[in-house]
Amino acid sequence: MLPDYVIEAIREALPELDKKIKGFAMHDAVLTGVETRTSSPLRVRRKDDYRSVNVEGLYPAGEGADYAGDIYSAAIDRIEVAEAVALSMMATA
Ligand SMILES: Cc1cc2nc3c(=O)[nH]c(=O)nc-3n(C[C@H](O)[C@H](O)[C@H](O)COP(=O)(O)OP(=O)(O)OC[C@H]3O[C@@H](n4cnc5c(N)ncnc54)[C@H](O)[C@@H]3O)c2cc1C
Repeated sequence: MLPDYVIEAIREALPELDKKIKGFAMHDAVLTGVETRTSSPLRVRRKDDYRSVNVEGLYPAGEGADYAGDIYSAAIDRIEVAEAVALSMMATA
């Protein structure tokens, strides 16, 4: 169940959206889905070399660590972190 203020906002928004996208607010619709997103409530801080500031060997990455908010930024962050890990391994090899 959504909070009242959200339901109120949806009630106001649907007719407005229907003016821009004809048919968006169908009078006989049984269900209108809403997509919501949340952000990570915390950031696992890391240094310029992608290592954690305070946990040895940890490379915080992606959405859970607050370095991404969608599949693209998560993918890019993963590549950058993978490169940092590879560089670190090559340096110690
Ligand atoms: C319903 C929904 C719809 C979405 N739609 C879109 C969309 O249309 N477009 C878009 O760009 N983004 C969308 N997103 C957001 C997108 O899915 C995420 O931003 C993205 O997947 C984050 O990638 P990630 O690799 O950082 O984290 P995740 O994809 O969450 O990967 C984290 C992985 O770590 C694993 N894991 C967790 N804890 C542990 C542990 N202790 N040990 C081992 N493994 C562990 C998990 O099982 C998981 O596989 C959507 C998200 C949701 C929930």
